[in-house]
Amino acid sequence: MRILVKGAGVAGLTVAWQLYRHGFDVTIRERAEKAGAGASGFAGGMLAPWCERESAEEPVLTLGRLAADWWEAAVPGHVHRRGTLVVAGGRDAGELDRFAGRTSGWEWLDDAGISALEPDLAGRFRKALFFRQEAHLDPRKALSALTAGLEEGRMRFLFGQVGEPNEDRYDRVIDCTGASRIGHMPELRGVRGEMFYLETGEIKLSRPVRLLHPRHPIYIVPREKNRFMVGATMIESEDAGPITARSLMELLNAAYALHPAFGEARLAETGAGVRPAFPDNLPRVTEDGNTIHVNGLYRHGFLLAPAMAGEVARRLVAQQQQPERRAS
Ligand SMILES: Cc1cc2nc3c(=O)[nH]c(=O)nc-3n(C[C@H](O)[C@H](O)[C@H](O)COP(=O)(O)OP(=O)(O)OC[C@H]3O[C@@H](n4cnc5c(N)ncnc54)[C@H](O)[C@@H]3O)c2cc1C
Repeated sequence: MRILVKGAGVAGLTVAWQLYRHGFDVTIRERAEKAGAGASGFAGGMLAPWCERESAEEPVLTLGRLAADWWEAAVPGHVHRRGTLVVAGGRDAGELDRFAGRTSGWEWLDDAGISALEPDLAGRFRKALFFRQEAHLDPRKALSALTAGLEEGRMRFLFGQVGEPNEDRYDRVIDCTGASRIGHMPELRGVRGEMFYLETGEIKLSRPVRLLHPRHPIYIVPREKNRFMVGATMIESEDAGPITARSLMELLNAAYALHPAFGEARLAETGAGVRPAFPDNLPRVTEDGNTIHVNGLYRHGFLLAPAMAGEVARRLVAQQQQPERRAS
């Protein structure tokens, strides 16, 4: 079966990988010049289904808990299984109890427990929640590795292209074009996420740290080379334009509250991505004629794309085994 995957974000590349592993002949067409140019390139890369359950429905946990294994199998060495640390400032300590009440899979840590995990946070917080089972990856590196793996497997990439007159020479088209479908797919909306990278050698973190706050919660995800991804706003908007001064100030203030060393950090990069979302904030695999759509990954692209890719592969394998049923 010849498959065209449109969009080389996390949805498109995970689908392409899953179909390639099932022996399908896959072409990936991406309108940008490289993979991960949309929302996926701005993500934190947290594989945090237990934490996300604070505001997400049950499927995010049930579908997301296997994501780290999927990524480890697809791009070995890219998954860091070091858990997530959740803290709150003295005045916001009640936020931790609220967070604990809405989630599972955590253990309480005192100051000694916090400093054993993250020595540079010693003395800064009296207690924390530790989600031991969670993981994270660097989205840009993981997507580059998937792209390289697909190219090694002789799958074709058509970068810098949006259209092709002879789309009908493919047996199926999988549309993974994310927020660009807003206005074309019923109910799909955008949720703007602003973020930035700080660079400093003054502090080391080994795992994502979430700082709870009633209005401006943030997370900081450590990357290589003294970099930290700081995110992210959640604004009901399809605007992918540069970060606003207000968001930058609020996120920077929160990073500084987590540790003053971030005050001396270099602001290495700022950005914004549009998370595609349906009203229930859960992703969907839908069919429309010859096209299968994978969309609505919201704030869970890296967490839930593997499950969506598995669903697409299951459908295509079943259809390949029963071609007469599709024809009828
Ligand atoms: C700041 C931020 C932080 C986040 N953090 C996390 C996190 O920690 N963990 C997590 O799991 N998720 C996170 N997310 C969510 C995640 O990034 C999204 O759910 C995910 O990127 C959506 O992926 P996608 O492939 O559907 O869309 P996109 O990544 O936007 O990919 C769509 C692709 O389609 C291409 N395209 C558009 N139109 C066409 C066309 N006509 N033809 C060909 N190509 C086309 C675009 O150029 C783009 O590359 C975060 C998101 C943001 C913004």
